[in-house]
Amino acid sequence: MALTVKVYTTADWGAVAPRSTPKLSPHGSYIIIHHTAGTPSSGGSVAGGKNLARAIQKDHMKRVTKNGTKWIDSGHNFLNTIGGHVFEGRHRTIEAINQGKCVNSAHSDQAAANKCPGIENEGNYTTKVMPKVQWDSLVDLCVDLCVNLQLDPGVIRGHRDFAATQCPGNWLYSQLPQLITDVRSKMPT
Ligand SMILES: [Zn+2]
Repeated sequence: MALTVKVYTTADWGAVAPRSTPKLSPHGSYIIIHHTAGTPSSGGSVAGGKNLARAIQKDHMKRVTKNGTKWIDSGHNFLNTIGGHVFEGRHRTIEAINQGKCVNSAHSDQAAANKCPGIENEGNYTTKVMPKVQWDSLVDLCVDLCVNLQLDPGVIRGHRDFAATQCPGNWLYSQLPQLITDVRSKMPT
């Protein structure tokens, strides 16, 4: 099934080519929520979101894996901005989800977790509350992922469930039960 949420593709936002082609694999058991932990920079516009997507990709491609190799591409699968705009992260993510699969990514430190879709939310949600438009797009994206990957909304988790990190921030982490409730209420019957 195709995603119902509008997702700006890597071509739309002018991603640079990955170092190697990301591989598709059977998807993992969770949907993993992140925050960028930075001060929002997109201004809530599509153009600002494209700039942010390019900046994150540039930063991620400087990072090094445990094996000593550089990340091949953006680590996450989706970027959800403060304007509620959604951008493809790692190349081939949309292609994979549409096939009920995932791309091997680099957002959650563990191999199994990196086969789960990872959603990066623009902002620092340690104490701050997410704008409603961003929350709504996060809910809609999670509904799409649950439908396409045949996952129950109860499998939504935070990055800290898989690694020693504060991500996705105390406030956003505390809202995951509400996110699960909201996603469940919008799941098609
Ligand atoms: Zn994270």
